[in-house]
Amino acid sequence: MALAAGAFLHVGAAAAQAPRAAGEPTVEIPESLRGRSGRLRLHVLQPHESFAEFLPDTESPAEPSIIAVHDSLASQLFRFVTLVPLTEKQDGRVGVYRVGRWPAEVRKPRSEAYRAPAGFIQVHEADQSIPVSDHFTLGQFLTKDQRAVWPKFLVLDERLVDKLELIVSELRLMGHRAQGLTVLSGFRTPQYNARGKSAGLASDSRHQYGDAADVFVDADGDGRMDDLNFDGRIDINDALAFARIVDRVEAKYPELVGGVGLYRVVPGHGPFVHVDARGERARWGVP
Ligand SMILES: [Zn+2]
Repeated sequence: MALAAGAFLHVGAAAAQAPRAAGEPTVEIPESLRGRSGRLRLHVLQPHESFAEFLPDTESPAEPSIIAVHDSLASQLFRFVTLVPLTEKQDGRVGVYRVGRWPAEVRKPRSEAYRAPAGFIQVHEADQSIPVSDHFTLGQFLTKDQRAVWPKFLVLDERLVDKLELIVSELRLMGHRAQGLTVLSGFRTPQYNARGKSAGLASDSRHQYGDAADVFVDADGDGRMDDLNFDGRIDINDALAFARIVDRVEAKYPELVGGVGLYRVVPGHGPFVHVDARGERARWGVP
């Protein structure tokens, strides 16, 4: 008999629960891995963390991979990712995917936050829909280039995803209908970022470190920012209203503080907001 497992979902879990697939080990995921939002559904194993620490009864994978486990508390799938180490990168490529070179690979980084990443999440075409949290998927954060090349390689900081989930929660608290956010740009490989310098991309952008995203809220699905300040127009003031929401999240969670940049309407796109979790406050474009 199929017993509804909904009773075990924590209050507010928005996403449909994943069916239990045979073969996935059942694990009690520690609260700390769900983030401050409680909505993270994927954990990237860092070099100092061992697979056995979280999954003592599961054999460590020989190859970097994404391992799904059945989360006994949330009654849905939770995933662990083992990284493809940075040392796999040869001549600026991982496999055939062009990545480029981080500034810290050739000179001392200006701070810890600007160190080259430890490694990459390998994302096959079919992996794009894998949830990283209740409202975001792996595919949303991939660099938008080399469309025919798979697998792609991604740097993604869970603190960013956690912050975006907290922004979604705050938007709802403020009476908006946010069902996630549209991510215009998430991770950017250094080689992609360098090509965009003439188009206004920052030279040592946080997008290269996986803790930045350019986003807007589009609950009505019209492809642009919603009228967040309810004045009947879509303009920079809606981006400003969004920035105020980020301010509220940063006030509640100072450990997730970072950059906020406002971008106004130009031909080709509506207003959007850059959000990052660099660990120190930065603001630009805020009128
Ligand atoms: Zn940005």
